[in-house]
Amino acid sequence: MKVIEAEATGFCHGVERAVRLAEKAGATARGEQQDIVVYGHLVHNPQQVAALEAQGLRHVAAWQPETPGTLVVRTHGIAPGELADIREAGWQVVDATCPLVTRTHHRAEALRKAGYPLVVIGKADHPEVKALTAGDYGQVPVCQAAEDVDRLYPRLQARLGVVIQSTFPPAPARAIIGLLAMKTMDLRVFNTVCDVTQKRIDAAMDLAGQVEAMVVVGGHHSANTRQIADACRTVVPTLQVETAAELDADWLSGFRTVGLASGLSTPDAGIAEVRDALLTLY
Ligand code: SF4
Repeated sequence: MKVIEAEATGFCHGVERAVRLAEKAGATARGEQQDIVVYGHLVHNPQQVAALEAQGLRHVAAWQPETPGTLVVRTHGIAPGELADIREAGWQVVDATCPLVTRTHHRAEALRKAGYPLVVIGKADHPEVKALTAGDYGQVPVCQAAEDVDRLYPRLQARLGVVIQSTFPPAPARAIIGLLAMKTMDLRVFNTVCDVTQKRIDAAMDLAGQVEAMVVVGGHHSANTRQIADACRTVVPTLQVETAAELDADWLSGFRTVGLASGLSTPDAGIAEVRDALLTLY
């Protein structure tokens, strides 16, 4: 089997920065024999989360029951009000929120201050969207699909301000924005979709056009990994795996040329493991 790797794989700059900040904070905390926790999963990749746990960074679902020490904020960010509460409770905060996500919070705040009621385009259960719609912003509606627009806005609105989840697919975002435009006299939209995701999708689809099948490596809860795999699937048969153990020998046996792509929070070691398994097993 011939394996061709996509032009860009591995961490995006936001994840690379978050992992570097977390590892540095972990080393400092270890040196000072202090406890350090990550609030939520730093990134949507269980192997990377396990690697940080092995370095002493405990991932916790809630900070309130813990004794204050050092707390790392995940790549997807948290609501500004909650961040203030955490600092108030005595935690030393290492903010590993991706700068692009922080910029979306600033955009949301600017819209709110300018008198545009906020609506977020994204998946309601995604941590980035939860952070954007919680606390300071009050009850912020979330549009996940075109049908949500009529449900949320049965009547014409005077003003609305829109921000978009960084990893939300552009096609449904465009459809939702078009419908919102027809429901609003004055619509202001900040395009906060991360272009790194789109560039990775484009590169993976280019590669998909040159091979018989694609394997995409990344966390099963990673939105961008799913998007890359779904895009490749429109071109060739595509398998999404988290680790080499999930490679399916029967599925792979008919292909001689396979393309390899990854999500944006997949560590290089995980990609190498899958590439080596493809080359040695098949
Ligand atoms: S995918 Fe984009 S928004 Fe998300 S962490 Fe990476 S650079 Fe930041």
